[in-house]
Amino acid sequence: MSDASQRFLFENADVRGEIVQLEQAFAAVREHHDYPPAVARLLGEAMAAAAVMCATIRSDGVLSLQVEGGEEAAVPMLLVQVDASEGTLRGTARYQGEPTRGGLAELCAGGRLAITIEPEEGQRYQGVVGLDDAGLAATLEGYFRDSEQLPTRLHLACDGQRAGALLLQRLPASGGTQPTEADPDAWDRIGYLAETLTDRELLERPVNEVLHRLFHQETVRVFEPRALAFRCRCSAGRIASILRSLGREEVEQVLAEEGVVEVRCQFCGATYSYDRVDVAQALSDGNAAPGSDSYH
Ligand SMILES: [Zn+2]
Repeated sequence: MSDASQRFLFENADVRGEIVQLEQAFAAVREHHDYPPAVARLLGEAMAAAAVMCATIRSDGVLSLQVEGGEEAAVPMLLVQVDASEGTLRGTARYQGEPTRGGLAELCAGGRLAITIEPEEGQRYQGVVGLDDAGLAATLEGYFRDSEQLPTRLHLACDGQRAGALLLQRLPASGGTQPTEADPDAWDRIGYLAETLTDRELLERPVNEVLHRLFHQETVRVFEPRALAFRCRCSAGRIASILRSLGREEVEQVLAEEGVVEVRCQFCGATYSYDRVDVAQALSDGNAAPGSDSYH
């Protein structure tokens, strides 16, 4: 099975759906980190969730899901990003100890989830929500309900090797929020059918088989699947801007102690090495561009 996102639509029901299945991209994210199983599962769910949500945003751009856990949390930080125009994604998590079990709320205790959309053009958007004890899917359903007024059902699954997501969303019928008059029960009926989906089906069965099993009594229009792949967005330029945001003093201190400043990308493991000349260049680039976002 290849990593992909599959859009579908219930005809005459103002309900849309999206299924994401990930395996290679999830493996790439785990390649440079020996994540404990519970952390890997949460990261996989977050990747599938971000990919499935990305498919619902209208514009091209980058969607990020970032969890900041409390200081004592087993997972103080988790970040996944999906580039909608490229169909690429990456993710990373910081953890302490060896958490073996627990979902979002336990692993990231005391945390919050930020949903950020950076469109290629236009205004950056960010929504922040508290963590639902029932997990990441429930947290995101709450976000769509409260922030977007879009009734949404989300099923997330991850077995440590594969990650999957099913999203169903009720679209405002002709601009309103009332169900379509022709089929007022559609949303509830489709929801009941979707509830019978098992994690194993979502992770292991081909998407068309899953859709047929769940919704063969409905009229479903299925679109072309869209390929997804791991790709890191790091570059020498981005790392240089991180150096600038650290500040001259800190960077020069490292340089004095180590002779070189090494920055390792947490997403892909790439190492960027800066000697004295490179550091001077990186820091002066920022000075030469006042008004850039280097200094916050
Ligand atoms: Zn990278």
